[in-house]
Amino acid sequence: MKYYSLNKQSPIVNFAEATVKGQAPDKGLYFPESIPQLPKGFIENLKQYSKEEIGVTVMQPYIGDSLPNVELQRIVAETINFNFPLVKINESIYSLELFHGPTLAFKDVGARFMSRCLGYFNRNNNQKVTVLVATSGDTGGAVANGFLGVEGVEVIILYPSGKVSPVQELQLTTLGQNITALEVQGNFDDCQDIVKQAFMDADINAKLSLTSANSINVARWLPQQLYYFYAHQQWQQNEAPVVCVPSGNFGNICAGMMAFASGLPVKHFIAACNANDVVTNYLQTEQYQPKQAIATVSNAMDVGNPSNFVRIQQIFNNGFSALTNKLSSVSVSDETTKKTITKVYKDYNYTLDPHGAVAYNALENYQNQIPNSKFTNSGYILETAHPVKFPDVVEEAIGKKIEVPDEVKYLFDQQKQSILLSSNYNDFKEWLMNK
Ligand SMILES: *Cc1c(COP(=O)(O)O)cnc(C)c1O
Repeated sequence: MKYYSLNKQSPIVNFAEATVKGQAPDKGLYFPESIPQLPKGFIENLKQYSKEEIGVTVMQPYIGDSLPNVELQRIVAETINFNFPLVKINESIYSLELFHGPTLAFKDVGARFMSRCLGYFNRNNNQKVTVLVATSGDTGGAVANGFLGVEGVEVIILYPSGKVSPVQELQLTTLGQNITALEVQGNFDDCQDIVKQAFMDADINAKLSLTSANSINVARWLPQQLYYFYAHQQWQQNEAPVVCVPSGNFGNICAGMMAFASGLPVKHFIAACNANDVVTNYLQTEQYQPKQAIATVSNAMDVGNPSNFVRIQQIFNNGFSALTNKLSSVSVSDETTKKTITKVYKDYNYTLDPHGAVAYNALENYQNQIPNSKFTNSGYILETAHPVKFPDVVEEAIGKKIEVPDEVKYLFDQQKQSILLSSNYNDFKEWLMNK
């Protein structure tokens, strides 16, 4: 498979080059030259295949000869070695739980796949690669965990001091080995600015081989398709599901739409957004107007100009009516998000996290728009994070403490290790250059 830049001003590359580069030199996103078509028999008999077989079959055409088959099999197996259960909330809404991975959020899959690809592509390179990443909470943990112990790769994570939840902080700061956590006395934007400046800093680039673990990377984006295949394996109804995805940078939903374009049955997609409603507005007005991000309780979706939306447009050859036939979007307020957590807990004894709650409300709204159609518009939401990652909002909404899952209990016995830095770029640079 070859990849071209959506800005069309860069050379064509293969999967390995697209992964190592991240973004094309013309600042465009890489997109595959064609969308692979899966054999009909494969989709029809999906239930008969193992998760690993599905992973390899779906990913192989995208990888081409960038990875030998045994490597692809190993990377897929390591990436998806946890469960993706489709849990019934009520008659018409199911929850695809994507929080059973090591950092309790869906980004684990993309981060694990990408880190192992980078490790492989860098195997004959003597210089260590340094991954620099700023996080508002979720991404950093997934990236750190994904890269933990990967040979030849060092990871430096910048996170805003006091602004991530206790579980998130422990996930970032207790790993050790090749992972270093920098606790920045500032907010997420300060962390992001430091990272951006570092990438342009000639002194740093002369000393280190820097790379980003950005969510636009093809090796993080494409494996997210697998969720939708695993959901379909568990889908019991004859009619194809309506799929509702809590969306920020639109990478996850875009992967789902790639799965659909390659043959997976999906009736309709809903992009569930918080107050950051650029895409919601676009689908209503055909006017795309990026905005400053607004802070919300579903903070992993606080994105004012979603990078991956251009990829979704490309799937539909930039046709607006083809796109709106398949994709709707709903913007959900913080107040409604909290009320939804309360209601779903009370009515169905199911605890949503704020991101899942945005999706639940959006799907329910969609189903209610068409009277009496509830049972023919059944579908599932992607529950993208465990509620324990957002204890303040969730515990207030359900009126009790959330039980800490066994998978993370051990974290509370670990020692936090971070390096405290001011938000001044020069302090960061001095630390990095003298490391
Ligand atoms: C990153 C994230 C999202 C948004 O995913 P995108 O692919 O950026 O649209 C939603 N929920 C959670 C919990 C996340 O961490």
